[in-house]
Amino acid sequence: MNVLSFADLDKVHVWHPFTPMSDWCAQEHEPLMLTEGQGCYLFDQHGRKYLDGNASIWTNIHGHNHPRINAAIRDQLDRVAHTSFLGFGSPPASQLAQELVNLFPGNPLNKVFYSDNGSTSIEAALRMALQYWKQNGRPERDTIIAFDAAYHGDTLGAASMGGISLFKGSSNQFGYHVERVSGMDAISKIGHSRIAAVIIEPLMQGAAGMKTWPKGMLKELETWCRERDIFLILDEVMTGFGRTGTMFACQQEDVIPDFICLAKGLTGGYLPLAVTMTSQRVFDGFLGDASEGRTLYYGHSYTGNQLGCAAALASLEVFREEKVLEQLPAKVEYFGQQLQSLLEMKHVAEVRQCGMMAGIDIVLQKEPRIEYEASEKMGVRICCDARRHELLTRPIGNTLVLMPPLCVTMAQVDLMVAALRSSIELLCGE
Ligand SMILES: *Cc1c(COP(=O)(O)O)cnc(C)c1O
Repeated sequence: MNVLSFADLDKVHVWHPFTPMSDWCAQEHEPLMLTEGQGCYLFDQHGRKYLDGNASIWTNIHGHNHPRINAAIRDQLDRVAHTSFLGFGSPPASQLAQELVNLFPGNPLNKVFYSDNGSTSIEAALRMALQYWKQNGRPERDTIIAFDAAYHGDTLGAASMGGISLFKGSSNQFGYHVERVSGMDAISKIGHSRIAAVIIEPLMQGAAGMKTWPKGMLKELETWCRERDIFLILDEVMTGFGRTGTMFACQQEDVIPDFICLAKGLTGGYLPLAVTMTSQRVFDGFLGDASEGRTLYYGHSYTGNQLGCAAALASLEVFREEKVLEQLPAKVEYFGQQLQSLLEMKHVAEVRQCGMMAGIDIVLQKEPRIEYEASEKMGVRICCDARRHELLTRPIGNTLVLMPPLCVTMAQVDLMVAALRSSIELLCGE
């Protein structure tokens, strides 16, 4: 079959996530079919190449087609691809659990619960937190504190933690009891007798538009939780695996949560796999004779997928072999300098950076700040135009997002920033 026709087939038969399908299926729209990847580059059906400027929706860490990760997946494939994790274990899942636990000095999070995506890793943490209190003396603790504009995934439970109404469609209230707050000041005013846990995206909220928290806020939150013996759930689905400049965001403020949720970058961005890591204390709260009903009855068919675990182990190996974390400070600084240069533009109001993640706000006017009308779709148009300059990325409203794989070079950083500059100039009329 001719590769070109896949774009037509897609428009006939496929429904895409987070996508207004009328626009997608419009006569004049030719969807990009991504056919190959190499390092930070992706190739489309016409053989054109692009820098993967948002790391394939925030997942890719070491680049595409990495020989080490490819080999690990092939090697595992020759043994077995997937086996049930309900009632059985597997070598790569055991080894990966150990390596993940050892990423935290002192091993405070020594229990690893597998699932297959970020949303389910959040679901597992919520279920564990609520069930823990229910069967360990504090059944009145049935409420979770979540932050304004938070994003924790799209399954009902994870979405009920979310604070972005656009993502909830018509049914805004579902799932768990949630107390929504704007920040630390608001938390301090909350009566905490019913609070089971606080959930947060540490250092930076992604889907909210790459919003950074004030420095020290995470530590303050940890202290608040500790003083009241309330669980702290860190959603590091986006921030995990080096994105912030350290392996995990929580390490920057010396914070140890009760639960950490990891997904996107866990396998280097190769396969869907997630973990919810927690403490011995939480684990022990579920022990007892099965007849007591203290078991966590939660899981998925592809839990602990062996190919995924093999890819994750290889990704951690690449971190060590290629000294990925050691190289990050220089890259983060260079990325920051290049981003700052965008601020000189008339239509760039704000740039927010956390490690190798950035949000760039495009506005009609800076002083006083006037936003573009949503109907102008300025963010989308700029990102589409940037493809002509070899950059692929996806905006959040009028916030442009850059989040390259960590193996990005300085020259590729230049290319990304130059591409955005050209497209902003063209579309906003600098
Ligand atoms: C992407 C994301 C999720 C959801 O992960 P999925 O794998 O898409 O279900 C949850 N939390 C954060 C912070 C994310 O960025």
